[in-house]
Amino acid sequence: MSSPEIGIPNYLGIALAVGFLAVLLAAIVLAARQIRHIRSSRLKWILLTGVQLLLLAALLTAVELIVPSEHVMRLRLREAGAIMALIPVAIGALGLLLVMVGILSTARGGSERKRPPRERPPSDPESNMELVRSIMYSSLHGMITLRAIRDASESIVDFEIDLVNPAAQEIIGKPASIMSGARALEMLPCLAESGLLGHGITVVETKLPFRKEIPLTSANQERWYQFVVVRHLDGLVATFADITDRKQAEEKLRLAARHDALTGLPNRAMFLERLGQAIHRSQHIPEYHFAVLFLDFDRFKLVNDSLGHDIGDKLLISIADRISANIRAVDLQTQQSTSHLPARLGGDEFVILLDGIRETNNVVIVGERLQEALAPPHHIAGHQITATASIGIVTSEGKYTRAEDVVRDADIAMYHAKGAGKARQVVFDADMHAAVMEQATLEQELRDAVERRVFIVEYQPIVSLKSGRIAGFEALIRWPHGQRGMLLPISFLSFAEELGLIVEMGDSVLRTACGALRKWMDQTGNSDLFVSVNLSRRELMDPHLTSRLERIISETGVKPGSVHLEISESICMNCPNEADPVLRSVKDLGLVLVMDDFGTGHSSFGSLDKFPFDIVKIDQCIGSRDRQWRQFVAITKAMVELVHSLDMPVVAEGIETQEQVNMLQKVDCDFGQGWLFSRAVSEQQAGQLLLSNKRWMSAA
Ligand code: C2E
Ligand code: MG
Ligand code: MG
Repeated sequence: MSSPEIGIPNYLGIALAVGFLAVLLAAIVLAARQIRHIRSSRLKWILLTGVQLLLLAALLTAVELIVPSEHVMRLRLREAGAIMALIPVAIGALGLLLVMVGILSTARGGSERKRPPRERPPSDPESNMELVRSIMYSSLHGMITLRAIRDASESIVDFEIDLVNPAAQEIIGKPASIMSGARALEMLPCLAESGLLGHGITVVETKLPFRKEIPLTSANQERWYQFVVVRHLDGLVATFADITDRKQAEEKLRLAARHDALTGLPNRAMFLERLGQAIHRSQHIPEYHFAVLFLDFDRFKLVNDSLGHDIGDKLLISIADRISANIRAVDLQTQQSTSHLPARLGGDEFVILLDGIRETNNVVIVGERLQEALAPPHHIAGHQITATASIGIVTSEGKYTRAEDVVRDADIAMYHAKGAGKARQVVFDADMHAAVMEQATLEQELRDAVERRVFIVEYQPIVSLKSGRIAGFEALIRWPHGQRGMLLPISFLSFAEELGLIVEMGDSVLRTACGALRKWMDQTGNSDLFVSVNLSRRELMDPHLTSRLERIISETGVKPGSVHLEISESICMNCPNEADPVLRSVKDLGLVLVMDDFGTGHSSFGSLDKFPFDIVKIDQCIGSRDRQWRQFVAITKAMVELVHSLDMPVVAEGIETQEQVNMLQKVDCDFGQGWLFSRAVSEQQAGQLLLSNKRWMSAA
């Protein structure tokens, strides 16, 4: 088909399209400007849709103008613009329609453009006053307006009461007709007593508002009010509310928080507060003294366990009543104006503050009287219960600065009283103080040493009594102490156990010992060597013991069978049911179990048979010199035979003489350890001993 149209420009069509495009763009700009002010979502949608249609129409028209592809040209010329021009025209027309609708609706008020603010009516003093009256009348709080009264020097001397709202009339108890126009000080004398007048004057002078909760007394009754006072012209607006109920509720809560719910006595918080005040007084008034008695009831747990907690509670109430009654008696005897304070710290622990006593010497007599008063049995629910107390006493002679320290020392003295045979009293003294201080210092140093990992491990050879050669080493912990030299375990281990630090220390000893064993094995090629590590009670009872052992052994790469764990016979015998499963799970890991210190406690066949031990260590005291030699030989022989009868080897500890070695060889003891062979030495020295292949004796 011939195409004569191609290449002939259609000027009219182009002019029309350009004009159309211009109209579209103008409409888009107009709509876009309008759209920003529209809040109504419906109108916004109409305008946006219109704009989108206009954009589409403009795009199509532009394509026709700018991209004159053969196809487009041909179509346009052939159809005289009818088809292609019609589509953008139709879309554009629809878009224009929507935009027009949107713009017209906006103009009619559909938009939520910010309207200019309405003009306020001019300020009218009459209507303002009316508003103030309405607010005052409807307020639930008392409100009074006051005018300053000034003297000749312009200083404020009083206020004249102006407006008084109904709530204020009710609170004050006088009608407005009497109060309005009267002088404030005349009408309300409590203003001067409570200092409110002064505050009011300051508010006028400084223009700073004043807000405070103040107790006011009228007709011998104290009530609490909350005041807010602001300046108004040359006077004040005072608003106030009666908050007595709230204050009473707060006080009740405060009392509840400071008293023991069971006995009604003051609790620890209140006691410490009062004791703090007593300490403060004793620091400033030389003739003022106080004392604290710490009471703990002997065998109270037994009452709870045997008769039940209900009876236990009733007993505590009965005890509290007796203490209170007795303290009142002390008050009467000493004719003190200050009152002594009994309190319950918790459980069966009571404390008494003897406040403001003349001298501290006769506090013991007070304690004795208290013991006497507490001695007769309590009759509770058909039971006769005797509850004696151990009493610790502390006096202000100790120059205390903290209440907690007084209670701590009284507690320590009470423990001494318990230790000395119960139902008695002990006064805290300088020795106890020194012991406490030493303990506190040791605790701090010990924690510090654990944190800084200052402990070292020494190794004492365990010698085969058959070959005379070293079979293994026992790892023994040492504490190189800055001031006190090298400390042996006896001076810190039990305290470390008490503080729970022993687990961490034990881990470190085991890790170090396993590392040392690895080195010795590498140096000597002797894979039969072993290292023996001691385990404390706390470590044995640690629920993570097996996982910790497993981890250390795998990390240090030693054979489990070359690690021996020494556990004292007494540890196992004291808690057999707990110890047995732990020992078995350790044994399952492949470690060797050594019963340490056999002969110090039970030394029984039962303990050997019951637990899964592999080796038994006879304690050094078995061989101590003060025993008759023949007796020593007989006991040692019997023990070795006993252990052998259970197919276990025996190690004898504390060998100091050749005579002992000879005897032990004679009774067929397998291994020996003691100063005769070597003291505990460093890892390096132990390695040298091994390398020298030292032999201490000829084979037995
Ligand atoms: P133990 O396990 O019975 O250790 C043997 C103790 O006897 C060591 O005292 C050792 O130095 C001492 N000894 C060795 N040969 C002789 C001797 O011929 N004569 C005398 N008189 N004593 C000798 P050490 O090192 O003071 O250890 C005391 C205890 O402390 C140990 O008794 C052990 O129960 C415990 N212990 C030591 N290191 C550790 C540790 O790392 N962890 C735990 N839990 N306990 C440890
Ligand atoms: Mg040991
Ligand atoms: Mg031992």
